[in-house]
Amino acid sequence: MKEVMELIERTSKVVVMGHVMPDGDCVSSVLSLAVGLERLGKIVEAVIDSKIPYVFEKMPFVQKISSEMKISPELLIVVDSSSPDRLGRYATLPESVPTIVIDHHSTNSCFGWKNWIDSSFAATAQMVFRLNKLLGVPYDPDLATVNYLGIATDTGFFRHSNTDTRVFEDVYELSKLGANAHFVAKELLENKRFEQYKLFAEVLSRLQTVLDGKIAYSFIDYETYERYGCTDEDSSGFVGELRALRGVEVAVLFMEYPKGKVHVSLRSKDWFDVSKVALHFGGGGHPRAAGVTLEGVKLLEFMEKMLEYLKEVFTLEAKVAHEGQEALERDVLGG
Ligand code: AMP
Ligand code: MN
Ligand code: MN
Repeated sequence: MKEVMELIERTSKVVVMGHVMPDGDCVSSVLSLAVGLERLGKIVEAVIDSKIPYVFEKMPFVQKISSEMKISPELLIVVDSSSPDRLGRYATLPESVPTIVIDHHSTNSCFGWKNWIDSSFAATAQMVFRLNKLLGVPYDPDLATVNYLGIATDTGFFRHSNTDTRVFEDVYELSKLGANAHFVAKELLENKRFEQYKLFAEVLSRLQTVLDGKIAYSFIDYETYERYGCTDEDSSGFVGELRALRGVEVAVLFMEYPKGKVHVSLRSKDWFDVSKVALHFGGGGHPRAAGVTLEGVKLLEFMEKMLEYLKEVFTLEAKVAHEGQEALERDVLGG
C-alpha cells in the first residue's frame, strides 16, 4: 500500500478503471478512488467499458464514469479486477503506462507493474478507503456513501461469510462520516422491475437440483430475456436466491446474454470452493462467489459440460471433507 501511495503521490494525471459487468464493489472502488484523487487536485478519469446498471443511477458521482478513455494518463489504476480480460476493450494494457492493480480476488493474475492484492478484504472498496485515508482525502457524506456501497454489496449486505469485524469497523467509520446505508439498501434491494420478477418466475420454473439437493441450477437463454423485456442486469441477484434454498451448498445460474455469450454465476454456502471450478473454465472469483464468461459456446451444451465437472469435483471433495471429519473425530474421541 505504501508503494502504491508513493507512486500515486508522484503523478497528476490518472485513469481509474474497473471491470466489465460492474457490480457494486467495482462502481464503489472506481468512484471512491477517482473522487478521492480529484480532491487531492489530480486530473482523474473514471473508466468502465460497460453500461452502468440502473441500480447505481442515483449513486453520488456516478455520472463521472465513462466507457471512453479520453486523457493519456501518467498512471493507470485498475481496481476489483482479477485479470486484464475483465477490462473489456482495454484488456491490452498500454505498455508504457505504469499500472497499479488493487484487488481482493485470490485468483488475481498480478498483471500490474505494482499489485496490491489482499484476499483477506471482503471488498476492494475497503482497500480504497485505507488508501484514501493515508493520502489524506477529505470525506463528506457523498464520498462516504459511495465508498460504503462496495462493502455493503460484496458482503451481501453483511450476510456472507466474508463479513468480519474489520467490515463492521469500516462501515462504522463510514457511517460516522455520513454514509447513508438506507439509501444504498433501497436503491440496490428495493428497486426491482416488474419484468424482472416475471423472469425470476421463469428461472424458478426451470430450477433443478442434483446430488441430493446439494447443487441447484437453472438457466436463462437469450430468447427468454427478450420475451420478458429483460437484460442481464435484471438477473444479477438471482443466483443468491437459488443458494438460499434449504440444503443447497452450490447454486449455479447459466445465462446467455447477449446472443451467443454465456455467463455463469456460481455461489456456495458453507465450504465448497466455487472459484476453482470457475478458474477451470477460464473465469475466476472468490471461494463463495465466482463467475465465468464465454463466447461462441451453446448454452445448454456448456451447462451440461460444466455440471458434469462440478458434480465430479463436488463428490470428490465432499468425500475428502467427510473422511477428514471422521478422522478428526476418531483422533479426538480415540485419544
Ligand atoms: P458474478 O457471478 O458475475 O456476480 O460474479 C461473482 C464473482 O466472480 C465476482 O467476484 C466476480 O469478480 C467474479 N467473476 C465473475 N465473472 C468473472 C469472469 N468472467 N472472470 C473472472 N472472474 C469473474
Ligand atoms: Mn466486482
Ligand atoms: Mn469485489
